[in-house]
Order: sequence, then C-alpha cells, then structure tokens
Amino acid sequence: MEEKLDRILRSKKTRQIYLSDYPLIQEYLNSRFPNIDVSAVKIYVSTPKVISAAGFPEIGGCYIRHLKLILLKNKMTIGSGDFDNKFDRLLNDSVSCSADVEDVLVHELLHAVSDAAGRSLSRYEKAEEEFVYSTSLDFLLSKGMTEDDAINNNFIPFFLNSVMANRKVMSGIFVELKRARQSVSVVPTEEQFSSKRVKDFMSKYANFIVPRVIDSARQKAQEMIDRYREHGLKSLASSDNFDRSMRFSSIDFE
Ligand SMILES: [Zn+2]
Repeated sequence: MEEKLDRILRSKKTRQIYLSDYPLIQEYLNSRFPNIDVSAVKIYVSTPKVISAAGFPEIGGCYIRHLKLILLKNKMTIGSGDFDNKFDRLLNDSVSCSADVEDVLVHELLHAVSDAAGRSLSRYEKAEEEFVYSTSLDFLLSKGMTEDDAINNNFIPFFLNSVMANRKVMSGIFVELKRARQSVSVVPTEEQFSSKRVKDFMSKYANFIVPRVIDSARQKAQEMIDRYREHGLKSLASSDNFDRSMRFSSIDFE
C-alpha cells in the first residue's frame, strides 16, 4: 500500500491541494460539523492513469483512513474503459457520471469527518457510504443541482453496485426477464450466482437488464434521500447489509 502510494506521490502529475483553497467546502463542513476538524488531512490530485496504475481503481477518489490522506482523480472514470463484456459496456454507456473534483473532494472529506467522529462503520460499508452521500446532498444542492442531478451525476455508481450486489433485486429482474421472454428457460438462482456465469447471462440479456438495474439504482438513491429527509442520520444505521459478493470489479467506485 505505502509503496503504491509513494509511486503516486512521486509522479510529476500529482499535486497537493489544500482545503483552504475550497472555501465553500470549508464553510459547509464547518456549518454541518462544527466540532470536527479535518484540516490536517492531506489531499493529493493526480490523473486517473497514475492513480489507477498504482492499483487504486476507485472512480473519483479515496480516503485512506490510517494515513489521513485523500487521493483524487482530476477526472472521474467509470471502470477501466475497456470492457470485455456487453453488460458493463452498456451500463457505462447508459449512465453519464459527471461529478467534478470538488464533489468528489466533499465526498472523501465526509469520510474523513466520519473517521474523526469515531464512527466505527468501516465494517458497514453501505451505512458509511449512505452517511457520506446523505451529508453531501445539501452541498450539491447549494451548487444549484436538483436531487435528480445529484443522483444521476454523483450517487448512481454506488447505487448501481449496491443493486448488483443485491441478490433479491437481481433475482427479481431475472424472473421478470423469464416472464417477458419465453425463450429464456433458465435464469441464475441465488445458488448459482458465481460471477462468470451470471456475467455471461447478464451480457446476453444486457438490453433487458441494464435499464432495469439503472431504474432500481435511481430508486434506491431516491429512497435514501427520502429516509434522510425524514429521519436524518439516525435512519442510516438500520440499512440492510451490503453484499459484496456480486460486485463487478470493473465498476468499483467508492
Ligand atoms: Zn465513499
């Protein structure tokens, strides 16, 4: 880990930025979390190529907890860019994710806030991400975005992963497919959710499955926002467990 990081920090394409260069973010964090100071967190920006080459595939950036350090890509990337299957290709073509560096910086700083607040949620990845997405929402709205913009530009990658990791939702889509296409006699069941088999199946029926996965992801993002609006952060602890087993490595975003 440290060696990989070293490679990024030594690159000529990497530069350090400072929270003080982003007064709007600073103001936002101070107003929401007046007792938490994340000014000691170091922030570095580099190119997607440098960061991905060092083995950090995240879409926009990451917060490295034990080093109190944030890495940001100067441009968001979805996946590796050369997808070997139709499903990933179609999915990536269908979502336009245009969050800018500032949005990703807010996201990663909120992970730092969560860390500084001692929220020991690292085991509960979904709850941690929901905390971050929910608490970033008002910042995004303050930039003139609508909730739909926030979902489509910023939140969708995480919820796509979440939907595809959700066997119940995916099974539902597969059953729907079987009902709609008489020619489909067998769909993957939970016991058969081995990655290769399901991926092949999903690629074969990508035109049917992708729009439904995206709809479902948007719906889940909206539900999170509604829960947050109604109950505040209390609601996040009760989120159901996040099953990573079906995640696609090529769309690994958080
Ligand atoms: Zn995150």
